[in-house]
Amino acid sequence: MAWHNIRGHDAVWHLFLTALEQNRLGQAYLLVGPEGIGKTLFARALAQALLCERPPARLSACTRCPACAQVVAGTHPDVLVLRTPDGKHELPVAAMREFCAQLARTPVRGARKIGIVEDADDFNDESANSFLKTLEEPPPGTLLLLIATSTDRQLPTILSRCQVVHFAPLSEADIVAILEHHGLADADQRLRLARLAGGSAARALALADASFATFRRQLLDGLLAPQPDFRRLTQLWTQFHDDASKDSAAQRLRATLVLQLLIDTLRHALKRSLGLPVEGIDAAELLQLTAFAERVGTEGLLELLEHCFAAEHYVERRVQLLLIVETIVGKFCAVHAGNSRSGIS
Ligand SMILES: [Zn+2]
Repeated sequence: MAWHNIRGHDAVWHLFLTALEQNRLGQAYLLVGPEGIGKTLFARALAQALLCERPPARLSACTRCPACAQVVAGTHPDVLVLRTPDGKHELPVAAMREFCAQLARTPVRGARKIGIVEDADDFNDESANSFLKTLEEPPPGTLLLLIATSTDRQLPTILSRCQVVHFAPLSEADIVAILEHHGLADADQRLRLARLAGGSAARALALADASFATFRRQLLDGLLAPQPDFRRLTQLWTQFHDDASKDSAAQRLRATLVLQLLIDTLRHALKRSLGLPVEGIDAAELLQLTAFAERVGTEGLLELLEHCFAAEHYVERRVQLLLIVETIVGKFCAVHAGNSRSGIS
């Protein structure tokens, strides 16, 4: 049984358990790993286990005491969470100052305060600077958990003050179990999605969403058509991001999913273009891909692939999603028009 229903991260749990047992729990940790694998869930479960008023075992939560209930509800006065506001790409310095001021106050319920920075990738120089004093010397009894997708993206001043804990992508078996837990009944579909998800439970769940299948069909039909409608496709794709939520991380996840879909499609088309067999797609889609590959040509397909890879990188770098969508749709329109140089490069 996984710790607190969190799959795939037992090794990290052991690391914290050992630190606690040896009385050497640090004050600031950077939890690093790909998006959508459960780092935030883990941070909350850790907070719950550390604040539980009737822990059944070391680093374990009863899940029933008032403190446990408050952590789950997000109302525990000693658990402070800082995240990038909806529609923003950076952690604002004002929010960071408020976070630090609240951490400096005495704990309300117990002996410990836990500060979770959910978007440590999004520090700017100003918010990082305003955090340094707290990070360097956290108030007694404070535990800081910073959540990030890579150490490369951290400012050296932040990185050097944290103990880094690496989270691995989830195994296919873990993702299958998570999909089952979320009510996906079809075992074949669970396995197929787990294979597509690249170790991310969030990605698998997004792919399992029925609205994604509809969107996928509409987008591909539009982009692979002889004369793609730039305005309509841009709107369709942007709407798909907006439907996720206003939360920028959820929108980025969707953008990555779409780009992955396009990359897979282009790879299939490239195989057709080279006369190689393509498996796992139905006959109608194969016809559509073959016609597209013939019109665009190998060179055009390679060029589109290159733009999609670049776009994935831009999504990670927090470039505005609308700009990325317009660029990629524009490239599909241009490659059909035989003028692949137009648009934003
Ligand atoms: Zn409890």
